[in-house]
Amino acid sequence: MHPEFEAVIGLEVHAQLSTQSKIFCGCRARLADGTSVADAAVNSNTCPVCAGHPGALPVLNRRVVEYALRAGLATNCRIRTTNVFARKNYFYPDLPKGYQLSQYEEPICEGGYLDVAVSETETKRVRLQRIHMEEDAGKSVHFPGYSLVNLNRAGVPLIEIVSAPDLSTPAEAGAYLRSLHAIVTALGICDGNMQEGNFRCDANVSVRPRGARELGTRTEIKNVNSFRFVEKAIEYEIARQIQLVKGGGKVVQETRTYDSDRNLTLSMRSKEEAEDYRYFPDPDLLPVLLEEAWIEEIRRGLPELPEQKKARFIRDFGIAPADAAILVGSRELADFCEATIAELSRSGMEPRAAGKPAANWLVGELRRLANEQGLEVSQSCLTPGHLADVVRLTQEQVISGQGAKTVIAEAWRTGETIASIVDAQGLRQVSDTGALVPAIDKVIAANPKQVAEFKAGKEKLLGFFVGQVMKETGGKANPALVGDLVRKRLK
Ligand code: ADP
Ligand code: MG
Ligand code: ZN
Repeated sequence: MHPEFEAVIGLEVHAQLSTQSKIFCGCRARLADGTSVADAAVNSNTCPVCAGHPGALPVLNRRVVEYALRAGLATNCRIRTTNVFARKNYFYPDLPKGYQLSQYEEPICEGGYLDVAVSETETKRVRLQRIHMEEDAGKSVHFPGYSLVNLNRAGVPLIEIVSAPDLSTPAEAGAYLRSLHAIVTALGICDGNMQEGNFRCDANVSVRPRGARELGTRTEIKNVNSFRFVEKAIEYEIARQIQLVKGGGKVVQETRTYDSDRNLTLSMRSKEEAEDYRYFPDPDLLPVLLEEAWIEEIRRGLPELPEQKKARFIRDFGIAPADAAILVGSRELADFCEATIAELSRSGMEPRAAGKPAANWLVGELRRLANEQGLEVSQSCLTPGHLADVVRLTQEQVISGQGAKTVIAEAWRTGETIASIVDAQGLRQVSDTGALVPAIDKVIAANPKQVAEFKAGKEKLLGFFVGQVMKETGGKANPALVGDLVRKRLK
């Protein structure tokens, strides 16, 4: 934290809606197998409407409105029951009409908020200024000496979610973004794929003397598409602006781009003001009139939201808040956790006893394996049934914590049953007293000095004996049981 200056951050998020068709025509918004239209043959996914032919008329996709409503209702927004599409005029080769259909003065959602967990104990309320619907542009493809335009993406539906300038640090911005990402994916309105740009963020950043009321001049960092890069870009930009202002310079309002390889932001162009776009209501589209009954139906149909799920995980499953926060950040991790707990409940374990170990393995080992291999947990061969078995066998001390890791790695790769892996790899701990006693006796006989010290009160040596017995049994003894037996033997 800088002693003299503070930062002010507002984020604009574009979330691509996962509808079947585009926002104003019948062209596909995603391919049949769910992949991006960008992967279809160049310009194969176009029609006169999205290619901007003169006279072609747009027709609004009802599902887009429904998805925007879900987003607004989940983030405490006011819904404008009459909202209007406007033309945002600008020239870009990938924008064939010469304007983007968006919403301006009368967006569908206004004035919401999000309560964001910014640390273990603290939440911060971040206000939302608006959520509006708009169309995506096409894509320019550059070659040496010339460029071509691919309009497959033109007309794919987006919502833009605009926060108030309520964020103060890169970490807060990151927490807000993660929270919003978890919401739109939980709502099923956006696939959240950041690499493909389906959830991307423009970060507005300014600095001002600490405690000042007025906002400083902001810059806008465009289209950053990873949580970590957003945080790093903002961090760089704050430092740049502070240095500039302290040196007597002035921040100019401009659009900048983040270069992740060099970790710095670069000026792209001076920033347009809203009036430069000559917004006006689109004469080809009627105002959108929403019936209260439909809004209520959508409200009732909202799924459990990440914050609610987190509270439930803590309350019903005894999961630690930090683990719960990680789990609900990803729908598939949360589902995996619940399925594992359900398996364990079926075999008689209390949900509150099952929750903690299931969460620990998921947040720790399984996420580590997933990161290491660039996969989602659900893409591995390991199922909730496997994890439930691991939890059960560890609890019953049939396998050790180390053994459990080995078993998980193998099930992750092969999908074999846990029982068969435990047997094949000889991971069953020896918990049979009769089988352990000879090994213990042997260790005791071989270490008279340590035995004497232990008997004289040097309790710490218990670990030494357990270690020796583990060695003697090839790591297969149940260490807790060995500890008990050694103690009984020597006292
Ligand atoms: P535009 O759409 O042209 O970028 P908006 O007025 O809609 O302009 O503002 C967009 C974003 O900029 C909002 O998220 C808002 O919170 C943020 N913002 C506005 N002023 C500042 C400022 N001085 N410092 C930081 N963020 C700001
Ligand atoms: Mg902007
Ligand atoms: Zn089309």
